[in-house]
Amino acid sequence: MPKISDPAGLQRYVIALGSNQRHPRHGPPPRVLSAALAALAAEGLVIEATSPIIASAPVGPSRRRYTNGAARIATVLSPPALLALLQTVETRFGRIRRGQRWGARTLDLDVVLWSGGAWRSKRLTVPHPLFRERTFVLGPAAKVAPEWRDPATACTIRHLHARLTRPRPTPR
Ligand code: ATP
Ligand code: MG
Ligand code: MG
Repeated sequence: MPKISDPAGLQRYVIALGSNQRHPRHGPPPRVLSAALAALAAEGLVIEATSPIIASAPVGPSRRRYTNGAARIATVLSPPALLALLQTVETRFGRIRRGQRWGARTLDLDVVLWSGGAWRSKRLTVPHPLFRERTFVLGPAAKVAPEWRDPATACTIRHLHARLTRPRPTPR
């Protein structure tokens, strides 16, 4: 993982993208994710790698299936500045925060990992607190940053993904 003292002040992140609702103009969730990446690039983020887009089972109250992906990006933005940008783009894609977590949404953009390690404030926790338990985050993340290490466990993303998806012996 690059050091925070990168000479150009460049930060790297893995972001998770999710959608389970079509967008009136962009269309179904996979197209929403492509359009979101284009919007982030237009905002100046350098998209270094993108994962294939996957479909996953719903989490929480919404019964719609999810479309997920991940991107590794480079930017000079700090973690809170990046979160603010991601939320602006979510809103632009018609995401309405109804105070219900995990509801149906056109676009969800989460900060999963940061090259600087851990960040903790009222509004932002990096690494994302649930990413280690989510195959729909670890699968795509392992495609864009397999060798990055989770600062909390020191495990690589590839390892965390393999551990989570390994078949378990059936209990007798
Ligand atoms: P989950 O975080 O479990 O994936 P969600 O993405 O549906 O749920 P949101 O409604 O998008 O949740 O965000 C709720 C709040 O989470 C945001 O307002 C933001 O301040 C906070 N948050 C904390 N850590 C992060 C992070 N790493 N990435 C994105 N949002 C975060
Ligand atoms: Mg989320
Ligand atoms: Mg979110």
